Amino acid sequence: MGRNWQYSTSVVAPVLISVLVVMAGVLGLVLWSAGSSDQRALERETALVGRLMSTQLRSVAHDQESVAVSNPAVINTRMAFDPAWVDTNLGRWMYTYFGHDRTYVLDASDTPVYAMDTGKRTVAASFSNDAAALQPAIRALRDRLAGSDLQAYYDGQREHPPQLTDIMVISGKPAIVSLSPIVAPSEGLHQPAGSEYIHISIMFLADNFAKNVQRQYLLDDANFTLQGNFDAGRAVYPLMNKSGRLIGFFDWRPDRPGRRTLMETLPVLGTAFLIGALAIFLMAGKLWRSSQAIEDSRMQAQHLANHDALTGLPNRSLFEQTLEQSIPLLSVQGRRLTLFMLDLDRFKQVNDTRGHDAGDELIRSVARRLEQVNPGSLFIARIGGDEFAIVSHNCRHEADANILAQRVIDAIGRPFEIYGAEVFIGVSVGIISCVDPLAQRHELVRKADIALYEAKADGRNRAAVYLEHMNELLQLRHTVEAELRDALRQENQLSVAFQPLFDPQSRVIGAEALARWHHPKFGPISPAQFIPVAESAGLIEPLGDTVLRQACEIGGRWPGLTIAVNISPVQLRNPKFPTRVFDMLRETSMRAADLELEITEGILLDDEAIATEALRSFRKAGIRIALDDFGTGYSSLNYLKRYAVDRIKIDRSFISQLGDDKTSLAIVQAMITLAHALGIEVTAEGVETRGQFQTLRDMRCNTFQGYLLSAPIPSEQLAGLFADHPLPLAIRA
Ligand code: C2E
Ligand code: CA
Ligand code: CA
Repeated sequence: MGRNWQYSTSVVAPVLISVLVVMAGVLGLVLWSAGSSDQRALERETALVGRLMSTQLRSVAHDQESVAVSNPAVINTRMAFDPAWVDTNLGRWMYTYFGHDRTYVLDASDTPVYAMDTGKRTVAASFSNDAAALQPAIRALRDRLAGSDLQAYYDGQREHPPQLTDIMVISGKPAIVSLSPIVAPSEGLHQPAGSEYIHISIMFLADNFAKNVQRQYLLDDANFTLQGNFDAGRAVYPLMNKSGRLIGFFDWRPDRPGRRTLMETLPVLGTAFLIGALAIFLMAGKLWRSSQAIEDSRMQAQHLANHDALTGLPNRSLFEQTLEQSIPLLSVQGRRLTLFMLDLDRFKQVNDTRGHDAGDELIRSVARRLEQVNPGSLFIARIGGDEFAIVSHNCRHEADANILAQRVIDAIGRPFEIYGAEVFIGVSVGIISCVDPLAQRHELVRKADIALYEAKADGRNRAAVYLEHMNELLQLRHTVEAELRDALRQENQLSVAFQPLFDPQSRVIGAEALARWHHPKFGPISPAQFIPVAESAGLIEPLGDTVLRQACEIGGRWPGLTIAVNISPVQLRNPKFPTRVFDMLRETSMRAADLELEITEGILLDDEAIATEALRSFRKAGIRIALDDFGTGYSSLNYLKRYAVDRIKIDRSFISQLGDDKTSLAIVQAMITLAHALGIEVTAEGVETRGQFQTLRDMRCNTFQGYLLSAPIPSEQLAGLFADHPLPLAIRA
């Protein structure tokens, strides 16, 4: 899970983060551009308001001038005051036509003679309300009228008569106030300086004007106030009079196109973001799941690569890794690694005779039994077809290793039930212990294999601990193998000796053929040494053929005498072997009844079906079968009943102990009695003393072989012996 997490975050997180960054970037950009477009709009509107104010000031002055600077205005005010004319033209007209809210007309002594408020004439005295506010402006205008400006106008040097227009606070409200002398245009009626009437026009910014601005310039919710509205979302323009004094404020709700666009696009953008986020979420989920699936299948693949599909046990690759990792840990004092190499005995036969399914089932059952030997504390691997390996860290001494190996042998030695049938197999175990943290893995395996080989050569179903000399033995075996191959190609090295067989009266009744190898350099080499090598090196068939041929040649020359030949299981397993034997008999004119084949019970155990088949065909042809080394195997008596054999050869280990104790005596007696009861003849081999000979004779043993009577002799010598002791054919019959 930890690795899953790491793997997924390393893929998913960057994608998520970059998408979020992009989203935030887009949002930021949108907000920024909205803000900046709002800012530009505000600047534009503020400039507009500024322009609007100055235009409005000019336009109020202009409107006023258009009525106050005229001949009729002078005539109807100063010259002959006509209240009706004044009311119409200097008062209400200003309101209805120009939108000025108040007007006053002051006479030469600044006494109000006319007043209008919002289109209605009022009492002139109402001027007193605004007088204080207006007084400074009136005085300023009078000063200018007293100066040269008006004269310059009359003279045509100025385009307009002096006028005063400014923003002021009137009745507590900001207003544009304009003061103009009521004078005639340049070519008109001139008045003496200081005697002019004055026209005052007031336009309140808050009322009509504000509405106008709103309507014409599309400024929203515009207001002129003294205090200003500084609420959020409002724009404020300070109103200054000409001398720079703050009079009031113009405030409005500024147009915010950016914000508007944002408001319009936000839902779309938000939806898009939501959909995007959802897509990313789904994608991330999918990515997560698929990355997890990849991780899972990677782990599964790793498990498959490290485990055996049939048994689920670690395979050779994991075994090697484990061993490789375990060896350096031996640097810790007191640690000891013990390696067991296992090879099943007779597995091949089960596989061949009962089918591969049965073989697989058997391997699985073996694996389960191995797991139960010392549950949890052993590393068990299947490293080949019927090969297993066990690594233990708990064997303190060689004795522990042997106990464990024996447990393994016992576990595998119990019968297996495979598809309803009982199957017997065994296991050979090679053991090596190691305390050296610098040991080489393949060296350990090689040595355990050598020990395994020894265990097998020693008779199988047993364990062998690796010893240094085994290595030498193995080297020797390799040498022997090469030399034997060589010897088989040459004429003079390999020969056959014959050990005569005797009846109770010490008469020669035949001989056993025994292979001999005289090496030009090493001298005679024992068959006990080279026969196993020949068997494992695939050389036993040519060697066996040589022995059989020479034996048959002797047999052909001496009809009536038995010639016994040792047959290796490897030879017997070859289905063509019986034909070869029959051919040999025909070619050498030997009688089938004179040939005796010596087999060991191993072949019966190993290859029941084949052995039974071959043995039956031999016996049908009259060839006799002898069970060699009787008494050394597993369950000899059983086989006597199951496989019809003609003879047993009691192993010389029993014969040599005959004089020592009563038990051996009883055993040999029992063997002979039992064999006779089954109609089987008995040969005693290894008869070395007269005592043994006598005892065996008393036990009614049939045939005798041993140094006492004769050692193995060359064939020429045998011929002499046969000639000296001719045995009438009639006796044999
Ligand atoms: P085996 O079949 O039990 O042969 C008898 C062995 O006992 C022979 O050893 C023989 O020399 C030896 N022997 C005979 N009498 C005495 C005695 O009184 N005392 C003692 N201590 N030994 C005696 P050898 O010739 O060294 O053969 C050893 C084994 O090699 C044979 O045991 C046999 O299993 C195998 N062998 C020999 N020749 C052949 C062969 O041509 N083919 C096969 N397949 N195996 C062979
Ligand atoms: Ca023999
Ligand atoms: Ca023997």
